[in-house]
Amino acid sequence: MTATVDATAWETRAEQLTFSGDALIANELVPARSGEVFEKRSPVDGRTLAQVASCDTEDVDEAVRAARKAFDDGAWSRIAPRERKRILLDFASRILDAKDELALLVTLEMGKPIGDAQGEVDAVAQCISYYAEALDKLFGEIGPTAPDSLTLVTKEPAGVVGAVTPWNYPLLMPAWKLGPALGAGNSVVLKPAEQTPLSAIRLGQIAAEAGLPPGVLNVVPGFGETAGQAIGRHMDVDVVGFTGSGEVGKLFLRYAGESNMKAVWLECGGKSPNVVLADAPDLDDAAAQIAAGIFGNSGQVCNAGSRLIVDRSIGDDLLDRLLAATEPWQPGNPFEPDTRMGAIVDETQLERVLSYIDAGRGEGARLATGGNRALADSGGYYVEPTIFTDATNRMKIAQEEIFGPVLTVIPVDDPDAAVAAANDTTYGLAAAVWTRDISRAHRIARALRAGNVYVNTYDRGDISLPFATFKQSGIGIDKSIHAIDKYVRIKTTWISI
Ligand code: NAP
Ligand code: MG
Repeated sequence: MTATVDATAWETRAEQLTFSGDALIANELVPARSGEVFEKRSPVDGRTLAQVASCDTEDVDEAVRAARKAFDDGAWSRIAPRERKRILLDFASRILDAKDELALLVTLEMGKPIGDAQGEVDAVAQCISYYAEALDKLFGEIGPTAPDSLTLVTKEPAGVVGAVTPWNYPLLMPAWKLGPALGAGNSVVLKPAEQTPLSAIRLGQIAAEAGLPPGVLNVVPGFGETAGQAIGRHMDVDVVGFTGSGEVGKLFLRYAGESNMKAVWLECGGKSPNVVLADAPDLDDAAAQIAAGIFGNSGQVCNAGSRLIVDRSIGDDLLDRLLAATEPWQPGNPFEPDTRMGAIVDETQLERVLSYIDAGRGEGARLATGGNRALADSGGYYVEPTIFTDATNRMKIAQEEIFGPVLTVIPVDDPDAAVAAANDTTYGLAAAVWTRDISRAHRIARALRAGNVYVNTYDRGDISLPFATFKQSGIGIDKSIHAIDKYVRIKTTWISI
């Protein structure tokens, strides 16, 4: 519980906050070896927040050395699982103790509403404790071989894991890597997005305070082309866990092929459809969830429901309800507890979103609401919730990931056309179908080529369930017990008896 309830109180606390922009290597805060820094500004109002260490190859080398040394020493990788569990549970509880501080950092550096940022911190703690609880309940296997042998199939931590993450969930995306990677006994070098280094650095410090041995978790802020690439090409990094755009995800596959054949796991983008059929059960509920699914986090969500594929016979009715459901999503001050939609992460992203809105206009889609920058006087970056209707699925605004609060509505004539349009995309992250007919719901859920399918709801998830990927939305999954497999090596041991 927090006593802080209004925007002014949060803003005052934000001003009093102290934080570091240094790298965290072997549990020590250090500047970049080169001394280079980059300026981190807040999308809330444009103010400068910090000078952040601009890590490059040398810093990544040092972090990987620290990670390898910790791994080889065994102070984490070879301790009893229940000891790792104890420290990770302590880490999770300290994250909750620091909830407001971490949430303030997230809001300051990426502009999401403070309540959403608090929810993100809760989810981070839940993720870390989920893997802490799981790790001492995992068994190996005994092989079905002849009686003259005993064969063991064991899982060992892979070694040094590089985690490269985006800015939209500055703490949760790292946590989805850290939970299973640390839980399995690996050491990690984390490069957070250049837009959101501050909360990740603080998270690393909290892990150190919880007793994670030096070198087990290192944080190297910096740019993708330098620090990110150095991780991708490093000869002593065993696994990369990446979340971000498909374009950069493919670069990591190349880096691996051109270096040490490290395993690469990718969670990339989406252009996820809500398919609303003529027999959808409750159009008001559907409208509210569709709005939340595209305007939540200002649309900067990999599984945002950015396409609405609707049966033409109910198109106008649904649009009326959707316009009403969109009203509460007008952008506002992220420190105001009632604000549902905050800022866009930075000026580049703002320009990108506005350029897609121009493209939608140019392609002949009809702008039903929004379309403009908002709150420009604040000095921050805000966009109105925007809906294009009468679009076709081949338009740029129906094919490319905008990563902003822009919904593209595509009318179709029947369920088959709806499924065809839904699958007509290079992505396969999420999809939803809204129908009363249970057989049709199952048939369509099967036909949708997406890793996460929702029926009569949108964007539901739980740490116990895989966040799965089809097509060019990625390789591998985050969350759930299965994510641990990304960060272990299977070993077969044959003992002659
Ligand atoms: P991004 O530009 O691909 O960046 C992701 C990470 O890769 C950042 O840390 C970035 O560093 C780094 N990077 C950039 N260029 C690189 C390069 N040449 N070599 C090595 N690393 C490089 O993505 P973003 O703009 O941060 O995030 C938005 C994207 O993430 C969207 O496509 C979204 O769908 C996706 N996403 C997917 C999921 C999922 O679970 N499937 C979840 C959240 C977001 P810089 O910060 O310096 O660019
Ligand atoms: Mg980037």
